[in-house]
Amino acid sequence: MTLDRLLGKTALITGASSGIGRATAIAFAKVGAKVAIADISETGGEETVNLIHQIGGEAIFIKTDVSSAKQVRELVKKVVAVYGAIHCAVNNAGIEGVRTSTVAYSEANWDKTIDINLKGVWLCMKYQIPYLREIGEGAIVNMASIAGLRSALPGFSAYTASKHGLIGLTKAAAVEYGRVGIRVNAVCPGFIDTPMVSKDPTRQAEIENWIETSLPLGRLGTPQEVAETVIWLCSPAASFITGHALVVDGGFMAR
Ligand code: NAP
Repeated sequence: MTLDRLLGKTALITGASSGIGRATAIAFAKVGAKVAIADISETGGEETVNLIHQIGGEAIFIKTDVSSAKQVRELVKKVVAVYGAIHCAVNNAGIEGVRTSTVAYSEANWDKTIDINLKGVWLCMKYQIPYLREIGEGAIVNMASIAGLRSALPGFSAYTASKHGLIGLTKAAAVEYGRVGIRVNAVCPGFIDTPMVSKDPTRQAEIENWIETSLPLGRLGTPQEVAETVIWLCSPAASFITGHALVVDGGFMAR
């Protein structure tokens, strides 16, 4: 299996203090990659590092707000200083943002969602790509959503716009950097059982309704199922895939 060709590579994963990012960091460690975890949440980040150390892996945590250019620039510099290179980057940090109508959004709430989900990924690629170019190889996976392909739930126009924009950004970067050996793809999870979806007890009825009416596989996805897809996309097994937005959604988009 070509996944073992990730052995000894370095993976930088944002938003890895929780959910999909944490599962992805652990999955990289399991295939022998060195893992850099970046997140705004320090406690969760250190927990992810400990989980990786417990399975014999190598990981560091660097507290980072992905919407800050200065912090992202420092993050990327530090990862290269510690591990010598970056081979895989998973730009996963994101927020759902406020749920309200398009008209009722405040400018501050709109800007916050776009700044983290869209500008944050652009900043990550802006500072990652020069290092990937230096070594002439690299795989970037940007965490989009089914909300990047359709308006999946009412009340999330900023989130939906950010994820649609992220797929466009992914395609543009894939076209620009293919010739220098860098592949750029997006993953579009459906409804995944992470704190983003499950932390609000008032949403339980809504979640059960999605499962009943919209998910052909009849359940939420797990963070590990998304992580496996990311690992595959970063591996040489996906060497001819770039500019793609891959859904991991239990069949939601097929309906
Ligand atoms: P999660 O469990 O909430 O994890 C997201 C992580 O990102 C959290 O640790 C969060 O910290 C961190 N974060 C938030 N703002 C940040 C910032 N400015 N800089 C750095 N880190 C920041 O969410 P998840 O469900 O794993 O989501 C991961 C990605 O998958 C997101 O991009 C999300 O849009 C996408 N996605 C998720 C689903 C789903 O069903 N779960 C579906 C489609 C797409 P705090 O907890 O402190 O905010």
